[in-house]
Amino acid sequence: MKALYDITPFTLLDFPDTPAAIFWFAGCNLRCSYCYNPDIVFGTASIDEAQALAFLRRRQGLLEGVVLSGGECTMYPNLVAFCQNIKKLGFKIKIDTNAMRPDILEMLLDDHLIDYVALDYKAPEPKMGEICGGGSEKRFWESFDILRQSGAVFEARTTYHSDLLSFEDIIMMERSLRERGYVSEYFLQLFQGGIATLGNLDTPEYGATLEKLKSIVTLRI
Ligand code: SF4
Repeated sequence: MKALYDITPFTLLDFPDTPAAIFWFAGCNLRCSYCYNPDIVFGTASIDEAQALAFLRRRQGLLEGVVLSGGECTMYPNLVAFCQNIKKLGFKIKIDTNAMRPDILEMLLDDHLIDYVALDYKAPEPKMGEICGGGSEKRFWESFDILRQSGAVFEARTTYHSDLLSFEDIIMMERSLRERGYVSEYFLQLFQGGIATLGNLDTPEYGATLEKLKSIVTLRI
């Protein structure tokens, strides 16, 4: 089955303490205006599972992990079996997910297939449609609760564009995370502009807001 749009053969940046490859899954169930990967969101898969697993066999002993990213990897219908096969080769798995498929997350966790999750906290409910073209904050919290209850290692992260989310939104989102028992770093990825995105966004000027944000979140620039 065709699974991937592309493979990045090596990264030291995307999977904490783990030299890894990145598998880019084609397609997504959201349409975030700040999305840096329109080619992947609208693209079709060209690499099948057998090719991806053959790639990993050649990297055994060189890489320790695989990041499943996209697009949205939880949209891939054969994900659980694919992860089982990746695990059989001895690789750790990190999932990058927009949190809109808590059911899939639960299946992967029940099968002990995930070693790390980067969970997008997109926006408060009233802004989901405007920023992401759909989805719901409720589903984010379902995914969050599943992860919390499983004891899995995960991070919550938000892409920040000052025209889309206000400083007050971030304060509220951080407070909500803490109230639900999130004790790890809350990462804010700053939208930088300068490359093609799904929406027609201006490059923001963050100015003094950045200093204020630094006191409540961990910035990723
Ligand atoms: S940024 Fe949004 S549209 Fe782009 S891949 Fe992630 S969830 Fe999908």
